[in-house]
This record gives sequence, C-alpha cells and structure tokens, in this order.
Amino acid sequence: MSAGDYYDTLGVPRNADEKEIKKAYRNLARKYHPDVCKEPGAEEKFKQINEAYSVLSDDQKKAQYDNMGHETFTNASKGSYTGGGGFGGGGFSADFSGFGDIFDFFGGGGRRRSGPQPGADLLMRIQIRLEDAVAGMDREIEVMHSEPCKACSGSGSETKRLNVCPRCGGSGQMRQATNSPFGQFVRMSTCSQCGGKGKIPEKTCRECHGTGHTRVKRKVSVHIPAGIDNGMRLRMEGYGEAGDYGAANGDLFLEVYVQPHDRFVRAGDNLETTVEISPIQAVLGTGIEIETIDKRHIDLRIPAGIQYNTALKIAGEGVKRRGKPGDLLVRVRIITPKSISNEQKELYQKLAELEGKGGGAGGFFSGIMGKKKGKK
Ligand SMILES: [Zn+2]
Ligand SMILES: [Zn+2]
Repeated sequence: MSAGDYYDTLGVPRNADEKEIKKAYRNLARKYHPDVCKEPGAEEKFKQINEAYSVLSDDQKKAQYDNMGHETFTNASKGSYTGGGGFGGGGFSADFSGFGDIFDFFGGGGRRRSGPQPGADLLMRIQIRLEDAVAGMDREIEVMHSEPCKACSGSGSETKRLNVCPRCGGSGQMRQATNSPFGQFVRMSTCSQCGGKGKIPEKTCRECHGTGHTRVKRKVSVHIPAGIDNGMRLRMEGYGEAGDYGAANGDLFLEVYVQPHDRFVRAGDNLETTVEISPIQAVLGTGIEIETIDKRHIDLRIPAGIQYNTALKIAGEGVKRRGKPGDLLVRVRIITPKSISNEQKELYQKLAELEGKGGGAGGFFSGIMGKKKGKK
C-alpha cells in the first residue's frame, strides 16, 4: 500500500508543522475521497493519504518515522507469521522474558458506526537488550489475539451465509420513536439482535457461537531495526484483533523497552562507557583495551596528562541508526589507590619532595603539608 515517502504523499516539506500537515491532508482527502473522486486509482491514493497522515499526525509515530526513514519504518510494520500457528511452547531465550503485557489499545472507545467493524489495535511491550537496540535484531514474539474462525471462515455462520437482520432490516440501527407533549422524539440505537452489523448468521457456527472469531496464540517474527530507542513503537499491520466479517484487522503495536546495560549508556547515537586508571597512568599515559558492546577488543591510547572525566572518542562504535554509526565515548576515571606497598610509598614521598622543591614555597604538596603542620 505504501508508495513512497509520507511527506511526498501529502506534498509537504519535511519540516512542515502540525497545521501544514493537517491542512494538506484535508485538501487531499477531500479531493480523493472515493465518494467524490471517480478517477481510477483514487481509492488507492486516498488510502495512501490516510496512511501518511496517520503517521505524521501522531507525534510519536512521526518521530519514529523521521528517525528510521520510510523504508525501515514501513518494513518494521510488516511482520509475518512463523510456524503453522497453534501453541508452540514458547522458544524465547532467557534474556527476553518478562514481557507480555497486552491490552486493548484504541479499541472499544469511540462511537460505534453501523456495518462491519474493523478489529481493535493491540499494544504489547517488549524488552530488548541495549546491544540489540544498537545492532538491530530479528525476534519471535507470541501474540494472543483473535482471528477469523476456521470453521466458518469468519462469517459466524456454519453455512457461511448471512441473512439480513430481521429486526433492523440491515441498517444495524434501531429507531425508537416516543411521543411527548413537545413533539416526537426519535432515538437511534445499535440493533440488539445483530449488534450493529446488519446481518445475522444463517446457521450459527458452533465453534465460535456466531462471533466469527477465535482466540489464538501466534508466533510472529519481528524485525527490530538498529537504533530503536526506549518507548518507540513498531506497528505490525493486521496483527491486532480480527475485524468483523469483511472488515480489516486491527494492528499490533510493539512498544520497546531497552534494558539498562551494566557497562554502556546510550546518549543519542553515541554510547558511553568508563575506564578506571591509576594516577601514575594518568600522568604518564597508557594503552588500554576496550571491549565494544558487540564484544570486540579495541586498543585505546590514553595520552599523558589526561584529566579526570575526560571523554576519549572511538569513532563509529556507537549506535548504528540507519546505517550511520555514532561514536563510543570512553570516560576516564582516575582512581587513587587505597593501599600501597612500602616501596611505592617511598617513591611517592620522593615525588612529593621533588614537587615541593620544584614548586618553591607555593608548591602543591608543600602547600597542603604546610597547612597540616601549621594546625598541629
Ligand atoms: Zn439488526
Ligand atoms: Zn465460526
């Protein structure tokens, strides 16, 4: 369905604000509405306009779209079923346990229109490790949702035939007129026999009791793109709840939670880590080995005279978002040894003496020692 960049679809610049986007959408939707426009392909165009607007009008989706780019965003939206369905016994690695918070998302609320209703969207939270957010990954998740009943192909009728609802005559709505001294009041309500669908099963399906749906647990494979961050949502089109017979399924949204890492912290597209060195190493400079987040080893030169908390940059070892890698920043912490040998102590004392002589009366060590002596 997607035919190119959402900004192009709406004909707005990438920096367009909310108002401009809304205005462009309204104009196009009016122009291409299938009831109005009889041009060939108008319906497809109308769908594209709506798809583009549904993303660009939602702050969170828009940020995600801008971040990931059209290709990645739309691909992330399309998952695929793996396995033939049924109830496979899990199959997650231990790292990915602890998710499965699933609940209705947009469904339920709002005014019910008559006719077949589209399925509700679902929201599910998933936890991933920082290294997987950095590199991207493919993952299988289990989803509990409704699907069209196999026995009746989702029609709710054993014969797969539906009859026009006798109570509402197919409109899905009931008209109730009451007379009062002020005139006649007409109240419209959803038909109680067909639930607003306008049709009822010819012979109620025994498997699904006429609902047309069954609840199933599915394994779904998801591509989690590199660079995804906390709170971002992936949309899996059509993986939400089944719609009424003849209506679209809802979507499944996966909200990503990135677990904290014990050595790395993310800052935008950069990663940060810390190393500890001794005062001697700080003074003289040293070479150390850094393990990257994907467990490769890189030699890092720490220059002589480095100051506490200085960040040294290793280019290209950060988050690889849209193929463009951030950097790894290595923060240097200088740790004062708590216990030293007698030999080391002698050498430090020698250094202190040297420092005292070199710096004269105002030398660093002599200054401190002088104060100490003065207090006694
Ligand atoms: Zn009815
Ligand atoms: Zn059925």
